Amino acid sequence: MLTPVIDEDGAPFWEYAARGELRVQACAACGELRFPPRPCCPHCRSFDSEWRLMSGRGRIWSYVLPHPPLLPEYAAQAPYNAVLVELADAPRIRLVGNVVAAPGAPLNSVDPARLRIGAPVRVAFTEVDGVTVPRWLLERS
Ligand SMILES: [Zn+2]
Repeated sequence: MLTPVIDEDGAPFWEYAARGELRVQACAACGELRFPPRPCCPHCRSFDSEWRLMSGRGRIWSYVLPHPPLLPEYAAQAPYNAVLVELADAPRIRLVGNVVAAPGAPLNSVDPARLRIGAPVRVAFTEVDGVTVPRWLLERS
């Protein structure tokens, strides 16, 4: 599997994920949330930031079902999904991920026919090759 490339700005995201917390970077001066993480606030240009705890709830904003050609390990799991999740606490922030049946379940563990734009999801964490990554579980709507 491909694992995240962790840079200095994004490192706290992954450290919190390893503790089971979904946190988004926020400006400590004006309070605006921003993603992906970066040093400077695009709204007020402050370099002071903090990491705000999210509820872990969101909605599927969009999704795709990738088709070949795929990397071999992904081809073996097709059909799977890749979703954009709009966070309930930060509607302008959307995270890329996968909807799965359980935190450690394979990428193809949810029937693509069950996915709907707007469907409520909640975050769950699983370890992939030593990195804890967020995954998404469908909520009953
Ligand atoms: Zn700011």
